[in-house]
Amino acid sequence: MRNVIIIGSGCAGNTAAVYAARANLRPLVVAGHEPGGQLSITSLVENFPGFPEGIQGPELVENIRRQAEHFGAEFVHGSVVEADFRQHPLRLNIDGEWIPTRTVIIATGASARWLNLPNEQKLIGHGVSSCATCDGFFYRGKKVMVIGGGDSAMEESNFLTRFASEVAIVHRSDTFRASKIMLDRARANPKIVFLPHTVVRDVHDVNAGVVTAVTLHNVKTGETWQRDVDGFFVAIGHIPNTKPFKGQVELDDEGYIISHGGATTNIPGVFHAGDVQDRIYRQAITAAGMGCMAAMEAERFLETEGH
Ligand code: NDP
Repeated sequence: MRNVIIIGSGCAGNTAAVYAARANLRPLVVAGHEPGGQLSITSLVENFPGFPEGIQGPELVENIRRQAEHFGAEFVHGSVVEADFRQHPLRLNIDGEWIPTRTVIIATGASARWLNLPNEQKLIGHGVSSCATCDGFFYRGKKVMVIGGGDSAMEESNFLTRFASEVAIVHRSDTFRASKIMLDRARANPKIVFLPHTVVRDVHDVNAGVVTAVTLHNVKTGETWQRDVDGFFVAIGHIPNTKPFKGQVELDDEGYIISHGGATTNIPGVFHAGDVQDRIYRQAITAAGMGCMAAMEAERFLETEGH
């Protein structure tokens, strides 16, 4: 019987592991399919407090893991494929093996939705990004492109105009999901140009190792052309990693965990941390903060249950 199983090894999960391990709970961390989470696919992180020169994302998340292991956290490869929260002890199916546990911290994150272009994944961290807040700073005086027609695309585009000389918003139709106020703000921004009815065919240049241009296609006119850009930001939404928890813990229409205050869910003993519940902030520091809260609440729960 485990005291606490933490699912996910990004910033949220690893920070929960530091706190739970220091509280002598000997947490088990199930690292998941994308160990290290979103930080493992970013480059320089300049806004995590405590690192005036910045720190590489993979190094940051690995450091937190080592810190947790130092205090006795145990990490296992593999994934939770099914959960049973209908009774206590709670149970998790980790790659076919059911493990009972008194508490669970779900820190499985949300994966950025990508366009699945032939060269997109090869250029992540080299001009292709899913986070303007993280990477916008590197595009001072440069030309960037944002894909999407929702609030994220509008917000990221407006943010990027602080640095970039030009922001082109590429959207597959001329109907925008973005709220009117966000759309109007983008339309009024002289640095933003809109390319509606347009889809991206591919991003280049893998040989150069950085983004230099994209191939675009206008679905209305049938025209295909190339446009030079230095940065390529995909803002077409995120998918929360909650599939194994469907029907076991309360989720909203899009699959995000519904918080019941702090780090609690509707199930006693099941806590959330990071992007799996947070669709607004999505920062390493906010995920880490939630990881801390979840571990403290798990500790408190165990204490009140007499463990
Ligand atoms: P949305 O789901 O709202 O929008 C996604 C956009 O991406 C749509 O324009 C969609 O186009 C497009 N898209 C999806 N898949 C593809 C694809 N394969 N190829 C091309 N385009 C694609 O996601 P957001 O991340 O923008 O927003 C998520 C939620 O978060 C919303 O509720 C939003 O309001 C909220 N939010 C609020 C903010 C704020 O208030 N400050 C900031 C950011 C987000 P189509 O419409 O054609 O399907």
